Amino acid sequence: MILPGATLGVLGGGQLGRMFTLAAKVMGYQVVVLDPDPQSPAGQLADIHLKADYRDAVALIRMGGLCQAVTTEFENVPAASLETLAKHCLVAPSAAALAVAQDRLQEKTHARDSGCVTAPFANIESAADLAAAWQQIGAPALLKTRRLGYDGKGQARVDSAEGLAAAFKELGEVPCLLEGFLPLEREVSVVLARNAMDEIAFFPLAENQHRNGILDISIVPARIPESLAETARDMAAHLARELDYVGVMAVEFFVLKDGRIVFNEMAPRPHNSGHYTLDATACDQFQQQVRALCGLPLGDPRLLSPVVMVNLLGDVWRDAGITPPPWDELLKHPGVHLHLYGKAEARPGRKMGHYNCLAPSVEEALALALETRAALGIGAE
Ligand code: AMP
Repeated sequence: MILPGATLGVLGGGQLGRMFTLAAKVMGYQVVVLDPDPQSPAGQLADIHLKADYRDAVALIRMGGLCQAVTTEFENVPAASLETLAKHCLVAPSAAALAVAQDRLQEKTHARDSGCVTAPFANIESAADLAAAWQQIGAPALLKTRRLGYDGKGQARVDSAEGLAAAFKELGEVPCLLEGFLPLEREVSVVLARNAMDEIAFFPLAENQHRNGILDISIVPARIPESLAETARDMAAHLARELDYVGVMAVEFFVLKDGRIVFNEMAPRPHNSGHYTLDATACDQFQQQVRALCGLPLGDPRLLSPVVMVNLLGDVWRDAGITPPPWDELLKHPGVHLHLYGKAEARPGRKMGHYNCLAPSVEEALALALETRAALGIGAE
């Protein structure tokens, strides 16, 4: 067990690293952040901010020497960096678990092998694979790049063999997956933590709504039958065990119109759809990340109140990102909890913060979320 007083590290200084840093500091740890950006949200709060590239061997060795344990806030960390660090301190999740999450083919294959239901999928390495993939999947389908896709980027809907060939070209002929396009009823996610003693704790499922491919709101508890939530938790736990995963991870699922639940993807870190835990569960996902990393018993993930989380993107700032929204309109509601990430520049699509609306029922929390959103000028769908 790594106890308070020790030093922890995080690769990446964005908002996820910032909320990890806050949780660790509250619990009495020192924190080292590695991020090249001198203004990074986590670097602002860390005890030590190493301003260097993620591949910088000197910075990695320094970090490994300072820290008892290091984690990451994003999946695309170079494997070699984790291997360098692992020679000096504990690193979790492992490079192998991150590698799976970096590649949609490996991710879906692992998920299927560990008992998750997935959409039908076919691998496309080059144009030579297009015909066979189309024959296997057929219309309607989605073409997704295997790597570096996020927030709905790097994917295209295709409805014919010709459309598939054009979309593959458009995506740069990089390795892709062709997936069957499923009739979605809603999207949900489960955030879980697993420690090295194989203890697993699940946060309540969130129901997620997106706008332009970016998470917009999370509604908790998700409005789905408990039996489906249980299936989702079982699938997520199998996947975590199969990867021998240590840390916090999120698994996104689709609920189909026929009532089935299907694995979509995993994130090997705390997740935007788990930000509601900062105000609505006994232990939040970042405290849980500290506990899992340090080999501590996991905290209590129990929901204390229905909650709706609203993301705040840079689009809400006026005058080309200079004028912030009217915070007083938000903060006049006692049930609203505001979190801003300390980013100086508001750009369209950039995640600047979020707020959690707590209320006695999920309907009231949703009403508060919609009312406050309108007051900020976010507008309805
Ligand atoms: P992803 O990057 O895989 O999370 O996909 C982004 C969004 O596209 C998801 O949140 C869904 O709304 C939609 N989507 C992804 N895969 C499928 C699918 N196989 N069928 C229908 N919709 C999908």
